[in-house]
Amino acid sequence: MLWVRGRVLVGPDEVRDELWAVDGRITYERPPGADHAVTVTGWALPGLVDAHCHVGLDRHGPVDAATAEKQALSDREAGTLLIRDAGSPSDTRWVDDREDLPKIIRAGRHIARTRRYIRNYAHEIEPGDLVAYVAREARHGDGWVKLVGDWIDRDAGDLTACWPRGEVEAAIAEAHRLGARVTAHCFAEESLTDLVEAGIDCIEHATGLTEETIPLFAERGVAIVPTLVNIATFPDLAAGGEAKFPRWSAHMRKLYERRYDTVRAAYDAGIPVYVGTDAGGSLAHGLVAGEVAELVKAGIPPLEALSATAWGARRWLGRPVLEEGAPADLVVYDEDPRADVRVLAAPRHIVLNGRVIG
Ligand SMILES: [Zn+2]
Repeated sequence: MLWVRGRVLVGPDEVRDELWAVDGRITYERPPGADHAVTVTGWALPGLVDAHCHVGLDRHGPVDAATAEKQALSDREAGTLLIRDAGSPSDTRWVDDREDLPKIIRAGRHIARTRRYIRNYAHEIEPGDLVAYVAREARHGDGWVKLVGDWIDRDAGDLTACWPRGEVEAAIAEAHRLGARVTAHCFAEESLTDLVEAGIDCIEHATGLTEETIPLFAERGVAIVPTLVNIATFPDLAAGGEAKFPRWSAHMRKLYERRYDTVRAAYDAGIPVYVGTDAGGSLAHGLVAGEVAELVKAGIPPLEALSATAWGARRWLGRPVLEEGAPADLVVYDEDPRADVRVLAAPRHIVLNGRVIG
């Protein structure tokens, strides 16, 4: 049994003094023997969400289970206890049997156009096969499917959309029929209108949002996961590709330069924004606090940025927060993270399934 005392942040405005974890589950009713429980004190938040985090993947492709375990442990140390895995070529189902590792909501394997993504990551297919692959990954995943919506087109020398409107519309409809939501990697402007009008549920990165597409997203409630810690690498990518693909480089730099304005404009228009780090490709795991800080830097109010990795993100993913009977997955801090999100960088205790593990 565990006793969490101090300030329990049940919601952005709902604070309680204590909770208990009995058999791994939260209760607010003082259980018998409570005085002898292991006690932790501080400010408790629901386990953080990283809504774009690849476990089982590194810059070269799939990794073995030992490496995937290390990745998940780095996330756990940072307070990330719920991951939406935005595409992984590895089978990480074994993680579900591990009470000491973060919970994962999978999106199956990335679906990309032939030779239009990072090598060894995706199913690389042509549009005629899109519906079949989306159906297949919808069955493999945990309610999400991940498309690569745009990527560099070497002939055009710039980012271009990967899927024709008709095929992507049919594929999204098929995913919805199977109970899965669809998200897509998009850096550029061009791919967004078709994807939103085709009924997509979320866009990753979304650096290409404009005055034209922001109202469409807002009207349809399409979420974005900006991954600003990843967008920070655009200048390096642009420098690397400059000689061969100058148009692409210039485009990437422009998207980078307006990244905070883009996120702020999306937020102001009412587009749901969530925290995701894009860990696992070239980025390290455990960067969740840095991403929340970036959202604040972009102009999102601190309490909203916090919700984007806590209460709001969990609700969006259909997972519980700190309610009676929920798994006791929480992170305890020395100070109030609502007052300053930098508090997230130093968790005092990590509690997973009612056990103090860090
Ligand atoms: Zn990613």
